[in-house]
This record gives sequence, structure tokens and C-alpha cells, in this order.
Amino acid sequence: MQQDKKIIITIDGWSSCGKSTLAKELAAALDYVYVDSGAMYRAITLYFLRNHVDWSHDDAVHEALENISLEFVYSPAHKQSEMHLNGENVEYVIRDLVVAEKVSEVAAIAEVRKFAVAQQQRMGKLKGIIMDGRDIGTVVFPEAELKIFMTADNAVRVERRFQELYAKNPNVTLEEVKNNLELRDYIDSHREVSPLRKADDAIVLDNTRLTHREQFQKALKLAQQKIGEQ
Ligand code: C5P
Repeated sequence: MQQDKKIIITIDGWSSCGKSTLAKELAAALDYVYVDSGAMYRAITLYFLRNHVDWSHDDAVHEALENISLEFVYSPAHKQSEMHLNGENVEYVIRDLVVAEKVSEVAAIAEVRKFAVAQQQRMGKLKGIIMDGRDIGTVVFPEAELKIFMTADNAVRVERRFQELYAKNPNVTLEEVKNNLELRDYIDSHREVSPLRKADDAIVLDNTRLTHREQFQKALKLAQQKIGEQ
């Protein structure tokens, strides 16, 4: 029997639309590799914050990037790939609001994007990959066979992210989460380099009124169709 050809699936969209949840589920169903590109920008931001890197200076950014090694390492305990920064598992600390507050500023720097995109493109060489982010369908894999652009109403996104962060830190407020989402969406879609936008050939998936299962079924159908066409 002929093996199905592997494809590249990109999932872009606004913050807290559920991109990573969908990407993980699809990857499990298709036996594909899932890559969370946002984790890379978050890990770089964590390094900059911890090492007091002044990212308004090109030289400081250049030097810092030379000392950063990013790796996704599979955790058998959590059954997922986790972000390691210079050998340290930072998967959980990069989700903190402290990092979220600065990540869009850092991700807007051209050299930072060049650094992350080069690694992302290498990971896609063998296909069979699902990557989520902001510029995956437009810049990282413009030739991807299936591009999904996710969106959901603002209030729904804020509530989802709030629940997620509140579970880890009951001091977090809805207002803080709302401000952070709005700020990140604004910076991400207005930056000069690779701004967040829907690729012309991306399919929009608005999950405001979709259940988890409905959203997954829709995306899986799209993926199976594309794979079948190869
Ligand atoms: O996906 P996540 O919300 O974890 O991404 C964190 C931040 O990383 C985004 O707000 C954005 O600034 C940046 N990012 C990006 N390009 C990507 C993925 C994430 O600029 N491909």
C-alpha cells in the first residue's frame, strides 16, 4: 500500500485563539510533529529578561542570540515536546505574564525573527509537521499545503486565556489579561517585519461558536482532504 505523502500544515492567528490546542490534537491524529513557534519567541524573551539584554541595541541582540540554543525536547511524562533554553526546560516559565508582556516587542526585532525562522524552516524539511504562530503561512512555509487562519471573538479569547493563567496564579486579573492580549495583537499585526496577517490562500476557522470537537473535526477533514490530494 502506498504511504500517504506528508504535508506541511500551518496554523496562524490572533493570541489565545486555541491554535496550539488544535495543532496538538491534529498532530496526534495524523502522527505529525507539532511545533509551537511562539515558544521560541517566548524563550528568547526569557533569556533577554534574565540577562538584562537591552534589545533596543542591535549589538546586544546579536551577541545575546549567539548564546542562545533552543531545542524542543519530548517529555514522556507530559507526552509533549517542551521548550528547552540552553539545556533548561522552560516550557512552563515562558507562559508567565512577565514574558507575555515583552514577547511581542522582542518578536518584532528583525534579527530575532531571522534566528527563529531559520530553525523553523529546518524543522519542516521532512514535512509531516504542524506549526502554529503568526507568520508561518506567510513567511516560514509559504508553500505549505494547508494553511489555517484561526480567529475568535475578543471576549472569548480573553476569558480562555484568563482561565488558563488564573489556574496557575490566582493573583492575575481579567483586566491584565485583556490588556496583554490587545497589546500583543496590536504589536504583532502592526510590526514592520512579518506582521500577523492571513495568507491569501489560508482557510479561516472562527471558533467562537464551535465546540472543541467541532473545530477539530473541521480541521481534520481539511487536513485529510489535502493529504489525499498529494
Ligand atoms: O503563540 P504565542 O502566544 O505563545 O506567541 C507569543 C508571541 O510570540 C506572540 O504574541 C508574537 O509576538 C510572537 N510570535 C511571533 N511569530 C510567531 C509566533 C509567535 O511573532 N510565529
